[in-house]
Amino acid sequence: MITVAQARAHLFDLVAPLPLEEVPLISASGRVLAREVRAERDQPPFAASSMDGYALKAEEVEREAMFKVIGEAAAGHRFEGRVGPGQAVRIFTGAPVPEGADFVLIQEDASRSSDVITITGNPGTKDNIRPAGGDFTAGTVMSAPRRLTPADVALLASMNIARVPVTRQPVVAIMSTGDELVMPGEDPGPDQIIASNSFGLHAMLRDLGALPRLLPIARDTMASLHTAFELAAEADLIVTIGGASVGDHDLVAEAATQMGLERSFYKVAMRPGKPLMAGRMGDSAMIGLPGNPVSAMVCGHVFLAPMVRILLGMGYDQPPLRQAVLSKDLGPNGGREHYMRAIVDNGAVTVFDNQDSSLLTVLSQANALLVRPPDDPARRAGDSLGYLPI
Ligand code: AMP
Ligand code: MG
Repeated sequence: MITVAQARAHLFDLVAPLPLEEVPLISASGRVLAREVRAERDQPPFAASSMDGYALKAEEVEREAMFKVIGEAAAGHRFEGRVGPGQAVRIFTGAPVPEGADFVLIQEDASRSSDVITITGNPGTKDNIRPAGGDFTAGTVMSAPRRLTPADVALLASMNIARVPVTRQPVVAIMSTGDELVMPGEDPGPDQIIASNSFGLHAMLRDLGALPRLLPIARDTMASLHTAFELAAEADLIVTIGGASVGDHDLVAEAATQMGLERSFYKVAMRPGKPLMAGRMGDSAMIGLPGNPVSAMVCGHVFLAPMVRILLGMGYDQPPLRQAVLSKDLGPNGGREHYMRAIVDNGAVTVFDNQDSSLLTVLSQANALLVRPPDDPARRAGDSLGYLPI
């Protein structure tokens, strides 16, 4: 058996960042920026009014002062002239502030009669002008790698970047294996169950920014497994679920080896999720996860997610575990690293009593995996321990 850290190091050697592609801005959200981009212009490109009102000289602002209105500046239509002493230009939000003016009097503070305004309110000192380049200037960098958020997309648009260099999305084939499995919505026979973790992993992979592909369920025969592996051949990463132990019907390793898998390792000292295999198969990386629903999902968080991050060019620097305080005493851990389903609330972590690796109800209620290192001694309520948020 190897440790979780050794397993991760092996797995990370199997994958490398995918090449860059350019996508239209409209398709960039959720994608990973592959190289830094630079703003092509200043924003705003001119000093702009942030209010509707009158552009005039700050030094002339005082109650009862009067100004002659000499023109108008609206968004998209600047006033071409110059504001002189005793003059004002009617201005609207987003319009360039005319030359000679350095203050926008909000319209609520003015009363107008024909082309003369009088300051009737109390304008204060805020000039209501957004300076040129106040948001960003030409050359401002958005650094990579970075998973683009909707706000990033808006910023890129504002920078006038219409095509965005992003990492190609990894295609991840997900293969359930087992004679007992049927798809959700089907009519299971008396000895059958519904394939579940394949859907959970599909959702996880999509959230990570990959392109998951759910393959038809492979049966526990060599022929069926071969067919499934052939369907998966185009994928960047092949994920098999189940059939990875040493039972008579656990044929995944044998089938994968016949299909060219160069196997890297087999068993990992962790709970849940001991049987695990991985290697290269042709142009793909392959990882075989245990079948138990919770084991597969936990392995998804611990192994699959960082592999996808590497494929996406995000590196494998995981944020350090978060810390929470135990709400109850915990017994000593055995020799395997244990990822315990738990709830973290307000800095306190409570582990579920039943940690059986088949219980999806428990996983669904959990928001954290409390990480117990191998041979961790008994812990007392109040001790601080690391956890992985899920
Ligand atoms: P195996 O590793 O194939 O022996 O599977 C271990 C356990 O996980 C068995 O109880 C299987 O029925 C179950 N199992 C395997 N694959 C899946 C799946 N895709 N969805 C739900 N349960 C599964
Ligand atoms: Mg099986």
